[in-house]
Amino acid sequence: MIDVRPDVTEEFLMASNGPTDQVLVIPCSGIGKVHGLISREAVYRVTDALMPGHADTVCLALLVTGDAETREKVRHHPCITVDGCPKLCARKNVEMTGGEVALGVRVYDTLKRHRGAQFGSPTSLSDQGWQAVEEIAEEITQTVHQVVLK
Ligand code: SF4
Repeated sequence: MIDVRPDVTEEFLMASNGPTDQVLVIPCSGIGKVHGLISREAVYRVTDALMPGHADTVCLALLVTGDAETREKVRHHPCITVDGCPKLCARKNVEMTGGEVALGVRVYDTLKRHRGAQFGSPTSLSDQGWQAVEEIAEEITQTVHQVVLK
């Protein structure tokens, strides 16, 4: 049984402006802290292992620089953004492009729930870092299920 997230409302699903057989999961591009690495690994876990075919990703830098193909893709698929810090670069850029955000994951909120844990470095995750990846990937997967299996 999948919990219904408050931000994946019937209104969102009705208003979604494209085919919902696939969701775009977009990590921020943070590279200086472990948060960015956790964001990216969680996204790859979903796109490559947990929901292949139902979840894909795009490069945030292409969206920021106005790449036409990337903008079209974002506008025509439900999106899940995964941000490493409160600047919320992924979420803001999807919204500025006109994309629909089904879920905005805030990695820093997940990490706060593990007070005292050592997650690794910007280039390498510890076991606790990989546990955080799994936790975030599960959260994303629940929303992908809700959107594509509605
Ligand atoms: S959300 Fe934070 S960590 Fe991610 S790219 Fe933006 S400033 Fe960097």
